[in-house]
Amino acid sequence: MINTRMAVCKARRYVVKIGSALLTNEGRGLDRAAIQGWVEQIVALRTAGIEVVLVSSGAVAEGMKRLGWQHRPVALHDLQAAAAVGQMGLVQAYESYFQQHQIQTAQILLTHDDLIHRKRYLNTRSTLRTLLALGVVPVINENDTVATDEIKLGDNDTLGALVAVLIEADLLVILTDQEGMYEADPRQCPEASLIRMAFADDPRLLSMAGAEGGALGRGGMITKVKAAARAGHAGTATLIAWGRKEQVLTRLAAGEEIGTLLLPTTATETARKQWLASHLRVRGRLYLDAGAVQAIREAGKSLLPVGVVSVSGEFQRGAMVSCLTPEGEEVARGLVNYSATETQRIAGLPSQRIVERLGYVDEPELIHRDNLVLV
Ligand code: GLU
Repeated sequence: MINTRMAVCKARRYVVKIGSALLTNEGRGLDRAAIQGWVEQIVALRTAGIEVVLVSSGAVAEGMKRLGWQHRPVALHDLQAAAAVGQMGLVQAYESYFQQHQIQTAQILLTHDDLIHRKRYLNTRSTLRTLLALGVVPVINENDTVATDEIKLGDNDTLGALVAVLIEADLLVILTDQEGMYEADPRQCPEASLIRMAFADDPRLLSMAGAEGGALGRGGMITKVKAAARAGHAGTATLIAWGRKEQVLTRLAAGEEIGTLLLPTTATETARKQWLASHLRVRGRLYLDAGAVQAIREAGKSLLPVGVVSVSGEFQRGAMVSCLTPEGEEVARGLVNYSATETQRIAGLPSQRIVERLGYVDEPELIHRDNLVLV
C-alpha cells in the first residue's frame, strides 16, 4: 500500500484546497465543525514536519448566508459582493481555530494575473516562502473583488494548482465532496469505479471527468483534472479526496490509499527550469566576475550582487536576464530580483550593503538559485 503512495509519503510541502461544497453546511453558511476538523489535521501534519498552504473557497457561500440570500445570484457583481462579505467570516473561522493551537494564519487574496505577471509572481512567492519559514499557515482565496475566474469556473481548483507551482509544493490535495475521481460520473453511473492512480497528463482523464459542478461553488471534476495537469507540468502530484472522510489528511500523509492520486511525469526541478528556459524572453545582461561564474556553475549557488561587474538592458524585477562570463559567454539565465537601475546601483556590493545603497532590500540574492538555469 505504501509503495504506490510513495509520492504522497515523501511530500513535505502541501497545498490543501478546500472547495465550497465541503465548507458550507448545505447552503447555511460555513460548517465550523468541519473547519475545526481540518485545522486539527493540518496542525498534526505540521507537527510531522509538513508545510501547509491552505487554499479555501467558501466566501461566496458564507456571504450569501450573511446577506440572507437563499439562491446563488447569477450576476457576477452580486457574487463578488457576497464574497467580500463572506471572506470576513472565512478567515475569522480559520484564524480562531488555528490560534487554539498557537499557530498564526495569514490572509492572501490572489488573482490569476498576479501569478502570470513576473514581478507580482516573485513578490507573492517571496511572501509565501517567508510565511512558511515563520511557521505561519497562509490561507489563500481568489481576490473575488478584482477577478472572477474562480467564481465563473474553477471554485479555486486552478488557483490551488497555480499556488502549488508557485511554491514548488510536492503535493496538491484537492478536498471535495466525492471519494475521488471515477471512470464515469457516479451520479449517473453508480457502478463506475474509483481511479486510484493515473498520470496527470493522461488524456483519457478529461473525457472521464464529465462537466458539472455543484450549486454553491463551480468546479466539478474537469477543473480538478486540469488543475492536476497544470500542477503535474511543474512536478507536483495531485490527490483528489473526499474532504469529510475521517482524518483524511493525516491518513493520506501516512500512505493510506485514499482518493485519486494523479502523478506528474516530470521531476519538479527539471520541469520548473525547462519552463524558465523556454517561456521567457531575455530582457537584459549581467556580466559576472570569475568568482560568481564559478559559484553558479560549479557550486550551484545563487547569484549575489557582489559578483556582478556590469549590467546592460532595461528590465524590471521578475524579468529574465542572461548571465555572462567576463568574456561574454552565456552561463545561465534567471529571474532577477532587482530592476536594471537597482542592479546597476548594487552591482559589486556585498548583500548586507544593499539596504544602505537602496534604502530597502528585496532579497539578498540578485537571482535565487531556484530561479536560475545553467545554459
Ligand atoms: N473564491 C470563491 C469563494 O471563495 C469561489 C467559490 C464560488 O464561486 O462559490 O467563495
